[in-house]
Amino acid sequence: MIHSSTAQEALQTTFGYAHFRGNQEAIINSVLSGQDTLVIMPTGGGKSICYQLPALLQDGLTLVVSPLIALMEDQVLALKQLGIEAEYLNSTLDPEQKYSLFQAVNSGRTKILYLAPERLMQPTTLSWLAQLPVDLIAIDEAHCVCQWGHDFRVDYLQLGSLAEHFPNTPRIALTATATPQTQEEIVANLNLHEPKHFVASFDRPNIHYSVQPRKNGRQQLLSFLSGRRDESGVVYCLSRKRVEETADYLQKQGFNALPYHAGLAKHTRSDHLLRFLREDGVIMVATIAFGMGIDKPDVRFVCHLDLPKSTEAYYQETGRAGRDGEPAEAWMVYGLNDVVQLQQMVDDSGLNEERKMHERSKLNALLGWCEVTDCRRRSLLAYFGEEMNEACGNCDTCATTPPKWDATTAAQKLLSCILRTGQRFGSTYIIDVLLGKSNQRIIDNGHEQLSTHGIGKDLSVTQWRSVLRQLIVRNFVFVDTANYGALRVAQNAKPLLKSEQQLFLRKDLEEKRAPRREKFT
Ligand code: ADP
Ligand code: ZN
Repeated sequence: MIHSSTAQEALQTTFGYAHFRGNQEAIINSVLSGQDTLVIMPTGGGKSICYQLPALLQDGLTLVVSPLIALMEDQVLALKQLGIEAEYLNSTLDPEQKYSLFQAVNSGRTKILYLAPERLMQPTTLSWLAQLPVDLIAIDEAHCVCQWGHDFRVDYLQLGSLAEHFPNTPRIALTATATPQTQEEIVANLNLHEPKHFVASFDRPNIHYSVQPRKNGRQQLLSFLSGRRDESGVVYCLSRKRVEETADYLQKQGFNALPYHAGLAKHTRSDHLLRFLREDGVIMVATIAFGMGIDKPDVRFVCHLDLPKSTEAYYQETGRAGRDGEPAEAWMVYGLNDVVQLQQMVDDSGLNEERKMHERSKLNALLGWCEVTDCRRRSLLAYFGEEMNEACGNCDTCATTPPKWDATTAAQKLLSCILRTGQRFGSTYIIDVLLGKSNQRIIDNGHEQLSTHGIGKDLSVTQWRSVLRQLIVRNFVFVDTANYGALRVAQNAKPLLKSEQQLFLRKDLEEKRAPRREKFT
C-alpha cells in the first residue's frame, strides 16, 4: 500500500511504537483509502491509533466523536504530549478558550478535534465545520448508538445524518462491543456506506479464568491471595459497604488493600488511585466506579466477590488484568443471592419493562456462563460471536472437569413443556407446570391436563432454573424479550430432543441466603 511506509514511520517517530498491533495497519489503510470502516476491538486493543495516525498523514482536519468529557480531555492531553495538535470542544470551555480553539482550528493548525455528539450536531457547529477541510470523522464508542445497549445515547442517533452533512468524508466507527447485532445496528444507525469490517479477536490468552460457587467468599479470596502479596490487583464488590468491609478485612490480614467507590471523598479516591498506580502490591477493593480509563499494565489479578451485571461487564472488568501480556488471573466467586440482588437493582432501575427484561436476560447469560462444564474461555468467546476450535487449557474447567450430571432427560422435559404450552410463557410459568403446580393461570389455560404437567417433580426450582440457563447459554432456547420473556425452542434443540445429543450440568449447587438491601454504585 502506498501509505504503509509513511504510516510505519509515523508510528515509530510520533507514537514511539515499533510495530502495528493486530489489524491496526489494515484498518489505517482502509481509512486512508477513503472507505467507511467499522472496527470491533476489545478495550486496550489499540483503537485510538486507527484514527489518530491517519489524522497525522492527511492535510485536513479529523473529527473525533467521543461520549465522555473526561476521556476526551485525557486523550487530548496525551496527544499534546506527543506533539500532536489536538483540541476538544465541549461545555467545559470558557469563552476565551473557545475563541482560541476556533482560531487554532480555522488556521488549519489543529489536526484532531474531539467533540461530544450533541455539540457536533448543533447547527452552528455543523455549518462552521462544513467550511473546513474535514478528511475523516471517527466515532468512538460507536455502540452508544444501539438502542438496547447499556450505553445508549440519544445524541448518537443523530450522527447518522453526518453522511449527508459530510458526503465526501469517510467515517470510522469503533467499539469494544462485539455481538453481531451490535455491528448491524451501528452500520444501520450511523448510515455507514458499505463499511469494511475489522473484528479483532477478543481472546486474552494470558488471562486464566476461574469461577467457583461462593461458600465463604472471604476465606476463598484469602486462599486465592495467599502467595500473591507482592502483586497488584483489583477486587470488585457490588456495594460500597462490601468494599469497605472487604478492604478492612484484607488490611487486617496484612494486605496493602485500599477501598475505592463513588461515596468516598474525591481526594481519598485520587490518593488511592495514585497509590495503586505507583506502588507495588496494592490491592484496590472497588465498586465498578473504579476502572474507566485506567491503564496500568501490570495488574496481575481481577477478582469478583460478587457477580457483575452482564458478560460484557465481566469481560471488560477482567480485561484490566494482564495488559502487559504476562500471566494474569480472572477469579470470581458467585452465589444465587447475587442474582437476587442484581435482579432487585434491575427492578428498581426505573427502566421500562422491555429494557428490564433485556437486563435480566444478560444477567442470566452470565450466570449460565458461570455454570458451564466445558472450556470457559471457549464459552466466553462464543458469547462474543467468536469460535474457538479447541479447549484453551488455561481455565478452571480445562484444568479440572467439574462434577456434572446427565441432564439430557431434564432438558427434554423442559423443552417439551415449552412446546406443549405453545412457546408463549416465561420461565416461572414453565417451571410451575413442570413442578405440577395448579395456580389459577395454569388452570385457566387448561395446562393441568398436559402430559408435561408435574413431570419435573424430581428437581427443585433452583435446579430447573439452572437447566434452563444452560439451555439458553447453549442457544437451545431463546427468550423473546419483545414478547414478555416468552421462551422459545430453537431449531438446533432437535438433536437434544431426539436424544442424539446429551446435556451435562454442574452438580455444585447453591445454598441460599436472604438477600440484603444495600446502596449500589
Ligand atoms: P482502546 O481504545 O482500544 O481501548 P487504546 O487506543 O487506548 O485502546 O490503546 C491501549 C494501549 O495500547 C495504549 O496504552 C496504547 O498506547 C497502546 N498501543 C496501541 N497501539 C500500540 C502498538 N502498535 N504498539 C504498542 N502499544 C500500542
Ligand atoms: Zn479452557
